[in-house]
Amino acid sequence: MLTVEEALEQILSRVKPLPAERVPLMDALGRALAEPIVSGREIPPWANSSMDGYAVRASDTARVPVKLVVVGTVTAGAVPSRAVGAGEAIRIFTGAPLPPGADAVIPQEDTDAVDGHVTLNASVSVGAYVRPRGEDLRVGETVLTPGAALGPAEIGLLATLGHAQVRVHRRPRVAILSTGNELAELGREPGPGQIPNTNSYSLFAQVLEAGAEPINLGIAGDHLDSIAERLRWGGGADVLLSSAGVSVGDLDLVKTALRRAGAELHLWQVSMRPGKPITFGSLAGHAVFGLPGNPVSAMVTFELFVRPALRRLSGFGAIHRVRLRARALAPIPNPGFRRGYLRVTLDRVAGGGGWGARLTGDQGSAILTSMVRADGLAVVQGDTTVAAGDEVEVIVFRGLAVQDV
Ligand code: AMP
Ligand code: MG
Repeated sequence: MLTVEEALEQILSRVKPLPAERVPLMDALGRALAEPIVSGREIPPWANSSMDGYAVRASDTARVPVKLVVVGTVTAGAVPSRAVGAGEAIRIFTGAPLPPGADAVIPQEDTDAVDGHVTLNASVSVGAYVRPRGEDLRVGETVLTPGAALGPAEIGLLATLGHAQVRVHRRPRVAILSTGNELAELGREPGPGQIPNTNSYSLFAQVLEAGAEPINLGIAGDHLDSIAERLRWGGGADVLLSSAGVSVGDLDLVKTALRRAGAELHLWQVSMRPGKPITFGSLAGHAVFGLPGNPVSAMVTFELFVRPALRRLSGFGAIHRVRLRARALAPIPNPGFRRGYLRVTLDRVAGGGGWGARLTGDQGSAILTSMVRADGLAVVQGDTTVAAGDEVEVIVFRGLAVQDV
């Protein structure tokens, strides 16, 4: 049986970023950049004021109070009409270009204006309240590199640099297939012996959350023909994702169906709990995953194997979830020799004690409610109990939020 790391390495060695496409900036959120971004601009383009006040020569403020003559006004969006000479000031507003001759701004709060003059009540040094040209960005500076995840700040930066469009990697299209005679589709009341189809929907959501495009292939019965037919429907996708039917039962036909369709299977069975049976292979140059059927096993193996692969295909440089060290708030046992990925909540420990982790309840691979409560997965070696107060590594899969600050 492979370790999780060995399996992940096998998978990641076989997936490469998808080709790039040019998209409008407003469609680029959450995508991976496919080109370096070099600044073609100085930002700010000229020295400007960071306050409402008066543009002056700092040397005129050496002794205060001092009275200067106001020789003009410059607002944001305007261009100064004249320079500031000795004994002079120009009324200036935040974001307006610093007039020539001036080398500092004195905030309005430190002045008194009286008919055409201004009295300065405080001294300022050269550069005070002035944002110099190029303070944020210089021409020729590389500001983003390929593989960067485009979040709101990156989108803002691209707008600042005048990019109405940007090259990003294509999002992977992921076809999702559920298998099992017992599955009843959403919208139909499960009949005798049937259970609701859960995995198509949780996996659909996980694919979306990973930034990829899900395609629902529905449910295949436990017949090779039925599985094969739906695998063909997913032929145009970059990734095929099936759940169930990969174990050792008589009706576990997914591997056979994949092989018959021409897939080369690279791995089967990973030493982890939940979710030992998992297969990964290549079919017509595309990646195929056969995930286990139990709803939590399907979700956890998606987290550990499919998500990093989708992030890699999407072109991201950083493909893994954040891991943090937390203190066990109660014992976290992992019986059995397989490594455990155990559902835990994460809470701040009072008094700056970092994060505390606690099991969400029954860790059965079909107990979805304990997945609902989980903020992450505690990684615990086989036959080990993390004692209360001991540290444990947690893979965080939820954006953590608290009710009160
Ligand atoms: P299998 O690997 O096919 O033996 O499935 C393992 C378990 O997962 C069985 O109890 C199945 O009924 C269950 N299961 C399989 N597919 C789904 C699904 N799409 N939604 C919910 N449960 C499922
Ligand atoms: Mg089955």
